[in-house]
Amino acid sequence: MAEPILSIEDLRVYYDTLLGPVRAVDGVTLEVPRGEWVSIVGESGSGKSTLAYAIMRLIPPPGRIAGGRIVFEGTDLTSLSGEEMRRVRGRRIGMVFQDPMASLDPVRRVGDQIGDVYLEHGVASDRREARRLAGEALEMVGLPASWVDRYPHQLSGGQRQRVLIAAAVALKPSLLIADEPTTALDVIVQDKIMDLIEDLKRELRMTVVLITHDIALAAERSTRIAVMYAGKLVEYGPVDAVVEDPLHPYTRGLIESAPDLWGEKRLRGIPGYPPDLRRPPSGCRFHPRCPLAVERCRSEEPRPLRLEGGRLVACHRALEGR
Ligand code: ATP
Ligand code: SF4
Ligand code: MG
Repeated sequence: MAEPILSIEDLRVYYDTLLGPVRAVDGVTLEVPRGEWVSIVGESGSGKSTLAYAIMRLIPPPGRIAGGRIVFEGTDLTSLSGEEMRRVRGRRIGMVFQDPMASLDPVRRVGDQIGDVYLEHGVASDRREARRLAGEALEMVGLPASWVDRYPHQLSGGQRQRVLIAAAVALKPSLLIADEPTTALDVIVQDKIMDLIEDLKRELRMTVVLITHDIALAAERSTRIAVMYAGKLVEYGPVDAVVEDPLHPYTRGLIESAPDLWGEKRLRGIPGYPPDLRRPPSGCRFHPRCPLAVERCRSEEPRPLRLEGGRLVACHRALEGR
């Protein structure tokens, strides 16, 4: 594996509620090699966005980083001051947030909104300069520079997503985190946005972390796939290995319920629902839904097992019959 640009070590992120902490990210260890495209997949509520927000140090209250380290380019981000972190955010790590409408201000021109990034980081000295640079950023994402004067409502969903990507890559970060950047878009637009991210990754030599619930989408573009279930990383590895030979029953379930992965519809789905993270199941959190669960799964939590070929799996039965 190439040198990691990002090493997440035993990260815990909890939301404190009246009914106790929600353990949204609970002991995740993950290395992202420089120059790769790592996709994080999992059902709704598995902790994907929480993980991304933690990397950006933007966990909203009542959330908190309860433990662990996030080492980015050699620095533990959890130890940085607010001011130091502001210099990392946007400049060295760009992020496209999950809800595009919430991320754009409807009453400000898109050029001014992208321009903020240049002003905040002192790259532009005034609004005029910031708008000029914003025009260049728009061209970088395939939109005319003159669109700096447009308002978000004058753009389609796909164009708005391009504007957000322009803002995220404006300062040419080395890491881009994109949280469900195409969920609200139709399949053709979705594909074009993915092409754009791939092009930008190459041109700007970025590492990409894509968050998606869609394992088929992840399989098309990534070099590695990380699978999260109920706040835990349950499987991680090179894309071909994970997709063709999944080791975790949950990963197998996701692949079997993906309609397009094998060019045919085979919507089987995973029975049951993800657990309440205030009171997660004992032992393996997946055991109430797992077709392979045995007594041990109910009492003992599976430790992540590191295997050859950069693979990792957390399941008591993953290696049976191998
Ligand atoms: P989705 O695919 O729906 O975006 P996700 O994998 O991104 O889901 P998160 O948004 O990270 O999941 O949420 C993880 C867990 O944390 C969920 O159980 C969620 O209910 C809980 N959670 C998120 N934000 C808060 C909050 N502000 N207060 C309490 N619990 C929260
Ligand atoms: Fe299923 Fe047991 Fe493996 Fe959990 S540890 S995924 S319950 S077989
Ligand atoms: Mg999310």
